[in-house]
Amino acid sequence: MMEPNFLSTLTGSFAMPAAENPTVAMVEAAYRHHGLDWRYINCEVAPPFLGDAVRGAKAMGWAGFNCSIPHKVAVIEHLDGLGQSAEIIGAVNTIVRRGEAFIGENTDGKGFVQALREVVDPRGKSVMIFGAGGAARAVSVELALAGAGSITVVNRSRDSGQTLVDLLNGKTPTCAELRLWNDTVAVPRDTDIVINATSIGLYPNVDQRLDLDVESLHPDMVIADGIHNPPRTQLIRSAEARGCRVLDGLGMLVNQGVIGIKYWTGIDVDAAVMRRTLEGIFYV
Ligand code: NDP
Repeated sequence: MMEPNFLSTLTGSFAMPAAENPTVAMVEAAYRHHGLDWRYINCEVAPPFLGDAVRGAKAMGWAGFNCSIPHKVAVIEHLDGLGQSAEIIGAVNTIVRRGEAFIGENTDGKGFVQALREVVDPRGKSVMIFGAGGAARAVSVELALAGAGSITVVNRSRDSGQTLVDLLNGKTPTCAELRLWNDTVAVPRDTDIVINATSIGLYPNVDQRLDLDVESLHPDMVIADGIHNPPRTQLIRSAEARGCRVLDGLGMLVNQGVIGIKYWTGIDVDAAVMRRTLEGIFYV
């Protein structure tokens, strides 16, 4: 007879708001699919209680957790250390227990690059990325570490755009420049990969469009969107109509989860199971 074990291993998420975050559905689908007695608890944590929540997770022996808006930077002071790219990015979305320590990692950009590699290898490629917030920082740092040849950051605020460009030029091997976004942007003909890392197009503002000249998109470009709700954004639709290869935001969401689960469990989970779960939620 097997020794009974009623103690599941705990993981989860700290964010605010939390109700709209679909991560719990895709992670628990992976746990079930792989027969893991693990749970993922979606928690709404207000900023003043973030430290208490982290200490509580440690006290309860959690294997790790995700942090989302507004905790990705604030959580760092409550952790015991950072992984290499999280240190460069200056933000954390995945916390991993290693021994008694909680170590901060950032899987947003790694997840994006993993999804992108199914379409194109970023090594040596010319990238144009819209946005300079947390998602843009994570994605552009990982693209740079993956060997992207050049990165043009397009942002409406000069300060945050320049900060990201300086970070990329100072701490990664890529060559970065700023294009201020104060008029319609035509994508240069020699661009290989175009990425929306702004919040433009996120539900409920689904008709909001990037101020980008769609005619400048060519079929040999890959167009990626970080927005996962809805997955088929205006940008993805326009790019498809121009004959471009596209990558939707579910690819990034699924793969950042796959990498996070690998950190926690050591197991390579099936990305297709997680993607199907999200498609069941977003394509109803
Ligand atoms: P931030 O608030 O840190 O940054 C938002 C960025 O969008 C800034 O660069 C901001 O420019 C720009 N922006 C917002 N509205 C406009 C506008 N109307 N015109 C021009 N620029 C605009 O957010 P995050 O970087 O954390 O997240 C961005 C998006 O990425 C979110 O919608 C989120 O859903 C998505 N995301 C997706 C993930 C996935 O797994 N698929 C993972 C993480 C994020 P400015 O600097 O001028 O304010």
